[in-house]
Amino acid sequence: MKVLLTGGAGFIGSALCRHLVGQLGWPTVVVDKLTYAGHLSSLASIADYPNFSFVRADICDREAMKQIFDTHTPQAVFHLAAESHVDRSLVFSQEFVQTNVVGTFTLLTTALDYWRKLNESAREQFRFFHVSTDEVFGSLGENGSFTEATPYNPRSPYSATKASSDHFARAWHHTYGLPVIVSNCSNNYGPYQLPEKLIPLMILNGLCGAPLPIYADGRNVRDWLHVDDHVAALLLILAKGMPGETYNIGARNEKTNLALVEEICDLLDRHAPLAQSHREQIKFVADRPGHDYRYSLDATKIESTLGWQAQTSFSAGLESTVLWYLANRKWWEPLHGAQP
Ligand code: NAD
Repeated sequence: MKVLLTGGAGFIGSALCRHLVGQLGWPTVVVDKLTYAGHLSSLASIADYPNFSFVRADICDREAMKQIFDTHTPQAVFHLAAESHVDRSLVFSQEFVQTNVVGTFTLLTTALDYWRKLNESAREQFRFFHVSTDEVFGSLGENGSFTEATPYNPRSPYSATKASSDHFARAWHHTYGLPVIVSNCSNNYGPYQLPEKLIPLMILNGLCGAPLPIYADGRNVRDWLHVDDHVAALLLILAKGMPGETYNIGARNEKTNLALVEEICDLLDRHAPLAQSHREQIKFVADRPGHDYRYSLDATKIESTLGWQAQTSFSAGLESTVLWYLANRKWWEPLHGAQP
């Protein structure tokens, strides 16, 4: 299958791309603006594959998008390009609106024009896969989980722009018939994640002997999904999911931020010991404004209708992630501490 993948130089996009190109051998064109979050070094292992191509472009650039569709004639679009960091969205909300809302709108309109010119069977097989987040559902108390039917209640500039883009994606299906699928996943972790995000930040600060900043009292809860399990889910949904449907992707791994950071400290104590425990580096800092308390994703639909199951236990996935960062200094050293 010929794939157009936006945001393929980012964390999840590069994992998906390495799989599509390296494991499946699918012709894949990555479209990425290479913002501070996009790095071709994450695609180095497949850069020379004949089935891989890369175009540096902004998804808001309609002409560029049209040319890419016409040149590469994709059978499926995986749309992952986004401004993705909640903390940054509090300061640079305009960039989030531009890429996440206007960019998604631009991509949808270009995809629709392209799709309408395909023959009937190609139109039927085409998929526009919009990748989104559980943060669109808002925040939970101590109990309950988000299902696909949970009403949207975004509360940060980031989640508001993602929610908006989800609505556009679904509208293009309901109004124009574009075969759109939406997925909402929980927090991802794994190799090649930028050090601005919680898990790599804690690993790298831990290694460097720097403070490990935790918001408030560390009791906020996130639900963690290994990026390889996410990639497997995306491919299964592409193969078997229904246009117009939404699928939650989560691995039922809820952790308080404090418990997570303590687990990372213990792994660092084992694999990169310092004179004192890494737990001594934990520092509680002022809470993020509007910090959602708890996310929890109910993945029953994808498990029961498509037969997906997360394969990675959290403890094994976290340990392999720590070991990856220990072994891949060349990738992260230029990025750790860099100001976007
Ligand atoms: P990321 O920040 O690591 O990567 C985003 C990529 O998009 C980068 O390569 C960047 O250069 C590119 N990009 C940004 N603006 C662009 C533009 N205007 N045009 C073209 N390319 C542009 O993000 P990620 O963590 O890999 O997330 C990928 C997708 O998954 C996003 O849509 C995000 O909202 C969603 N998501 C991520 C998580 C997570 O835990 N990382 C969880 C849920 C959903």
